[in-house]
Amino acid sequence: MPSSLNPATGERVADHDLHPPEHVETVLRAAVTAQRDWRAIPVGGRLPLLRATARELRADAERFARLITLEMGKPITEARAEIEKSAWTLDHYAENAERYLAPETVPSGATESTVVFEPLGVLLAIMPWNYPFWQFFRFLAPALAAGNGAVLKHASNVPACAKALEELVRRAGAPAGLCATVLVEPDAVAGLIADDRIAAVTLTGSTHVGSLVAAQAGAHLKKHVLELGGSDPFVVLADADLDEAATAAVRSRYNTVGQSCVNAKRLIVEESVADAFVELVAEKAGALVMGDPLDDATQIGPLARADLRDTLHDQVRRTVAAGATLLLGGSPVPGPGFFYPPTLLDHVTPEMAAFSEETFGPVASVTRVTGAAQAIELANRTAYGLGAALWTADLDQARRLVPLIDAGAVFVNGMVASDPRLPFGGIKKSGYGRELGAYGIREFVNVKTVWFG
Ligand code: NAP
Repeated sequence: MPSSLNPATGERVADHDLHPPEHVETVLRAAVTAQRDWRAIPVGGRLPLLRATARELRADAERFARLITLEMGKPITEARAEIEKSAWTLDHYAENAERYLAPETVPSGATESTVVFEPLGVLLAIMPWNYPFWQFFRFLAPALAAGNGAVLKHASNVPACAKALEELVRRAGAPAGLCATVLVEPDAVAGLIADDRIAAVTLTGSTHVGSLVAAQAGAHLKKHVLELGGSDPFVVLADADLDEAATAAVRSRYNTVGQSCVNAKRLIVEESVADAFVELVAEKAGALVMGDPLDDATQIGPLARADLRDTLHDQVRRTVAAGATLLLGGSPVPGPGFFYPPTLLDHVTPEMAAFSEETFGPVASVTRVTGAAQAIELANRTAYGLGAALWTADLDQARRLVPLIDAGAVFVNGMVASDPRLPFGGIKKSGYGRELGAYGIREFVNVKTVWFG
């Protein structure tokens, strides 16, 4: 039975019954019927639903933000920002979907040859808990605009968010059944992927689950998009503005209590400036306010689950045992809730856990390098390839280095963040396919060629 557990106290907030198979059957049947009507509406006619959903989100922003914070523990100010970003993304697709999906005329030997973008059908969205609203809406906004329907299987620790999402889209005017939540165990997902009524699958989650879902979707020849884990490098070269870089590094590593796929997990710093940079990071990270995530002043709340804290602490212990220097934090906060303080590890080498594994929590690791060449080599020495940040005052050098970095996005003198206008996704074990922007909306469409002789 999925439970809402308040990570700040460890107390059970509510239990939610799993949906029995008969309910899932009803959901699938209704989704197919609703999507058949929805696809017949021209793109422009679908967009008022996106606008109305954005309005619903903003109108009830405080309630939704509290729901996020109560179920997964992120600071309330970040939860509010998540609601606003979700609304922005809905507005973005409401404004741009017709342009993104406009038919393209392609000259050929035909009297007329055109490429049109048609929906695939009902999509299964398997979503994680770290941005329970945003992850869903960055999938849903383009999916609905393109004429698809959606069935959401959310993470089991955010069932109240999952239910609220279905309700709010319905309240915004979605046709009955077009967008629904199913509360099911992970082992029921294979059956959903296999079901003929599911046309395609999107997963945001771990690399491990990504490979399971890819195998299942592959067995049934269903298109899928995978947004998986990351261990983003944050490279600081000697000529960088150290204070700005340190401020961005602290924000980029500790936001969402370190539980974002694009947190700057590995700070890779040129040796000549490393002492100064580390001092700045330690000072800024040490000043972060940890406490009740419902308090506006809080910057570091609890981790979302007890097991995530155990895993993180084990990674820190192994990294320190292997010779890294612990400069800040480093042990769970005693008392109720799953708190772990901002932690900073220096002299981390590539064999150590904090470098070679994804750390999902407020732990920054610093690796010192001799220069740009070694920085890039170590930035790429990871199984992942989601985002990367590069800090240098020399923009010509940056332009030379960007193509050498194996990642789905490189941010120069900035922190990696998703933006509805820009494509987002990874390479290597961070997955494949893209969300957001024009590329995102074209993942779940039939690119149809229409030819007239
Ligand atoms: P997870 O364990 O992979 O869970 C993600 C979703 O998959 C949940 O809904 C989960 O359901 C479901 N799931 C679990 N086992 C499954 C199975 N055998 N078959 C089908 N579905 C299954 O990931 P997480 O720990 O919640 O999230 C953290 C990971 O997500 C990190 O690696 C992070 O980097 C990554 N992430 C990536 C992005 C991106 O955009 N690239 C964004 C955010 C997070 P249950 O909760 O019921 O187990």
